[in-house]
Parts: sequence; C-alpha cells; structure tokens
Amino acid sequence: MVARIIPVEPFDLVIFGGTGDLARRKIFPGLYRRLADGQMPPEARLIGAARSDSDDAEFRALISAALEEFLPAENLRPEIVAQFLEMLSYVKIDALGEGGWPELKGKMREGVVHAFYFSVAPSLFGPIAERLKERGIADGQARIVVEKPFGHDLASAKALNASLAAHFDETQIYRIDHYLGKETVQNLMAVRFGNMLFEPLWNSQYVDHIQITVAETVGVGGRGEYYDRIGAMRDMVQNHLLQLVCLIAMEPPARYDHDAVRDEKLKVIRALDPMEPDDIVRGQYAAGPGGPSYLEDVGDPRSRTESFLAMRLEVSNWRWAGTPFYVRTGKRLKARASEIAIVFKDAPHSIFDVPRGRHSNILSIRLQPNEGMQLGVTIKEPGPGGMRLIDVPLDMTFAEALGDDHDAIPDAYERLIMDVIRGNQTLFMRGDEVEAAWAWTDPVIAGWEARGHIPSPYDQGSSGPDDALMLLHRDGRRWREIRP
Ligand code: NAD
Repeated sequence: MVARIIPVEPFDLVIFGGTGDLARRKIFPGLYRRLADGQMPPEARLIGAARSDSDDAEFRALISAALEEFLPAENLRPEIVAQFLEMLSYVKIDALGEGGWPELKGKMREGVVHAFYFSVAPSLFGPIAERLKERGIADGQARIVVEKPFGHDLASAKALNASLAAHFDETQIYRIDHYLGKETVQNLMAVRFGNMLFEPLWNSQYVDHIQITVAETVGVGGRGEYYDRIGAMRDMVQNHLLQLVCLIAMEPPARYDHDAVRDEKLKVIRALDPMEPDDIVRGQYAAGPGGPSYLEDVGDPRSRTESFLAMRLEVSNWRWAGTPFYVRTGKRLKARASEIAIVFKDAPHSIFDVPRGRHSNILSIRLQPNEGMQLGVTIKEPGPGGMRLIDVPLDMTFAEALGDDHDAIPDAYERLIMDVIRGNQTLFMRGDEVEAAWAWTDPVIAGWEARGHIPSPYDQGSSGPDDALMLLHRDGRRWREIRP
C-alpha cells in the first residue's frame, strides 16, 4: 500500500540554531526525507541561522555530513542530496545582537509561506520573536515553531507565552511536542473517532484501567548537569505523558481541527485530580552494568532529582471517574519501549471455566520501537480439545500493512514541520494547554522540594523501584511487561 503524498506549497523556512544538535539530527534529515518523498517542493528554501561564523558552502558541508550520519545509506540518493543541499543557505545571526537581520530579511521571498523554527535555548525565544517582528522580517501570516522545554514551571511558561504573544498571534505559534507527531498517536484518534467499535466502550464502565509506559535504556549520560535541574516530571510527564493522557481521555471533538481538539485536551488536564507528592513513586538508577549511578552521572551525591516516576492519575469527569491511568517513565530500564495499553474489563459473567481478571481485551498502542497497534481477543483454541480458550492478538502493525517499507512512515519531526507549512496547528500545544499542565505539576514538584523527598534507588535493567510495582498490586493489578 503506497501512501498518497500531497506536496505542500513552496516555503522559506528559517532554522535558528541550524548548526545545533537537533537541527542536524532531526530537522534537516527529516526535511531531506520529505523532499525525497515528493512532499517538499523543490522551490522550498531552508535558511540556517546561528551564531557561528560560517557561509553557505560550509553550512551545506555540515548538513551533508549530518545526512550521512543520521540517515540510512540507502535513503541517500545522490541527485536528491544535491538538490537538497542547493536549497540551503546560511546567515550568521546572534539572536541577542544586531547583525545579520537585514541579510535574513533580504532572503525572504514574497508569495511563499514563511516559517521560523526556534531550535535554540528558550531564553532566546522572546528576543528572536521581537527582532523578527520589529524588523519586518515576519508578518501576520508567518509561523513560528518553538521547541521544548516550554518553561520550567507555570510562571516561566506564562512569561514565555507573553514574550511570544507580544509579537505573534496564537494562530501563528507552533509549540512542538514530538510525541504528537508519531504515527500511532494520531492513529489513536483515528481508531477512536473513525470507528463505531471502540468509542461506546471508551469509558469507566468498560475500561478497567489504562497504562502508559515510556521506558528508556539510556541514562542521563553527558547531559547530567542539565537533566539534574529538570527531572522526569518536567522532562517527560508535564509534556509528553500528559499529552498522551489527553488524547486517550478527551471527549470526541466536533471536528478534527486545531481548536476543537485542543479545547477537549485542555478539559482533560483541568479534570486531572491534584496529586499528593507522596503518592508518586520516584526513583534514581543505581550503578550497574549499563554504567554509573544517576548520582555519579550528575556528579552530585545529594541530588534529589528523579530519573523514574510512576503514578496513578485520576481524571475526574463522568467518562472516567473510577478508572485509573497508571503512568510511568524512566531511564536505564530493562528495554526501550513506549506503550499505551487500554485494558478493558472482563465480560460481566463467564460461561466458561476461566478465572476472573483475565483482561483478555487489551488495546495496546506502541509508540516505539515498531510503531503499531494490537487488540487482544479471546477465541477458542482450534482443534478437537473441547472449549478451551486462548488469547490472540489482532495485529494492526503498520509495517505489515505498508509492506516492509518502514521508511514510508514519516518521523514525528518531519510530519510536524509539514503541518506547520500547511498551517495545521492540531498537533501542536496551545499556550493555555501548556500552562494548565504546569499548573498541575508545579504543586507536586514544590511538595517534593518542601519535604526534601528522596527518590528510591532502582536496579539498572529493571522495571523501576519496587514501590512502582506496589502501586498496581495495591489495586489488584499488574504492570505490563516492558518489552523491546
Ligand atoms: P545545541 O546547543 O546543539 O545547538 C544550539 C544552536 O543554537 C546552535 O546552532 C547555536 O549556534 C545556536 N545558538 C546558540 N546561541 C545563539 C544565539 N545567541 N544566537 C543565535 N544562535 C544561537 O542545542 P540543540 O540540542 O540543538 O537544542 C536546540 C533546542 O531544541 C533547545 O531548546 C533544546 O531544548 C531543544 N530540544 C533539543 C533536542 C535534542 O535532541 N537535541 C530535543 C528536544 C528539544
């Protein structure tokens, strides 16, 4: 099955921080793939802007090396690579300085979409927005794309929102959460709202509970000092995991459009019960076969920042009252695996001789690796053995439907950048959503700090601290296995 590609209109995309890690690893390789796929028109122009002294030729060499490093060799077609590099140019701009802006203005063409990607530290968002607007480089149609982290707490998120709102309308601001760009995450909406089968059962009457796991095998590595100021709550839960909770829990929007979808997501965040800081399991990985302990990695034996979190969320509304959302995320766990599992209740009465609590109907949505969906169902074991039941998965894995061409599935970044060009904000966070999420996490973090809460150590390669297992055992439930 070959997906239909609809090319976007011609555009000028300026990437502030165009020489940085994110730009080299994700943004430019993603754009190359969109060109190779025929979605990005050859008339598009990509303008790298950064502080370093460089020129077009050096910048092209840098991005050419990045394509080689971050894309599989079979994706690199010499004629497309040459065409892609031709689209690139470079302007030296210090976001806080005066030079380079007139040159940038001179590069922007009339009659094409203008987008500005802020792949720089958040402290530069406001100054760049101001200069783009004041110097007439960006008009009322231009789009700006900002990266995470969007604030450190509610106050800083409000300040960031205000610094952007002073120069751009909310309809021009695209706040990236790359989890929302994943194929399966969007498929979650397609499955819920495009079928009759699931939505009638999508509530506390039929859903026993929901599990969301985002597990990593890596530690904080070289980012130790940075990570230690942040922790899993700010790095993963406030944004990615709460966004996933929203997509699962939201009411059907009237239309698939940006404000209809985001209004419904916002209602979910506002319906989240406040959490008691002590009810959340926090952990730090101990030293093990994968490397040093968290405390050694961050170079602070007294650090109280968590590299693991597990919690039981409650969404207090008519649809979800009584159905827990168990959420966990952590580093140095047993496998790299992200999964959402909707665990349906048992049939009300069993006519077969099987134990209760089988939970044979589980819709599992895998975000990485191997994006895909499976629905567990109970059937009769084939053969003459009488009425014996077995659970089998109905596989909805995209790789199979699309043949072996995994590359046909665009990466989250490339999909989201194309949405920016199309002017579609549905998969981007609105300012009020981000603030509502911080308003929920702030008191929890403040509670840990006030109590001097110390995270529990956990073994590398495990599923996290034992307390995380207890969180479900207490409720007579079990976490799903973290499988690669
Ligand atoms: P980086 O340090 O590798 O690159 C920063 C870029 O910004 C460089 O091109 C640098 O020249 C430029 N820059 C720095 N100061 C500047 C200034 N005053 N004026 C103009 N340009 C300036 O950082 P990165 O890892 O690419 O991250 C960029 C942004 O993306 C950050 O906000 C980061 O939090 C976010 N982010 C990064 C990743 C990632 O995987 N790297 C993932 C998610 C979010």
